[in-house]
Amino acid sequence: MVKALYPGSFDPVHNGHVDIVERASKLVDELIVGVYDTPSKDLMFTTEERVDLFRESVTHLPNVRVQTFVGLAPNVARELGAEFILRGLRAGFDFELEFEMALMWRNVAPDIDVVCMMSSLAYQFVYSSRIKEVAKLGANVDNLVPAHVAAALKEKL
Ligand code: ADP
Repeated sequence: MVKALYPGSFDPVHNGHVDIVERASKLVDELIVGVYDTPSKDLMFTTEERVDLFRESVTHLPNVRVQTFVGLAPNVARELGAEFILRGLRAGFDFELEFEMALMWRNVAPDIDVVCMMSSLAYQFVYSSRIKEVAKLGANVDNLVPAHVAAALKEKL
């Protein structure tokens, strides 16, 4: 039984995240999406909202479950019995960040590996932060997020 943890803030979930989860769910028996439970003032959606939005985005994937997590991702992966942590890589500076973080995580938990999946070409430029920024300024982001997320963004703004 191969399990993986896909941790992130997902504020909010977008099509790039869903694409990674759809592709990764074919490689594992169970994929746990870990929504970072943080009250950070920088986030637009509460932890509960971020979990609900992600859950609704993956109802078509029976081996994916979405839950919150607190603490360090590799420790959480170990507690959940996940063999590895999944991350997505866009072209550009994601590599530097993920590489540095993966080495730190490995230092913390040498038994938990980090597996990165390349973002599909269509989502290379898709960032939650940029989506929020342009949506706030009136842009239509309907082609970048699931329909229920677009509706939630409109309501929030
Ligand atoms: P954070 O690292 O701040 O929690 P996110 O929650 O947005 O950022 O991202 C969680 C994971 O999803 C990270 O591995 C990130 O690289 C990946 N990711 C984000 N956007 C995309 C995208 N467009 N395509 C593929 N992977 C992505």
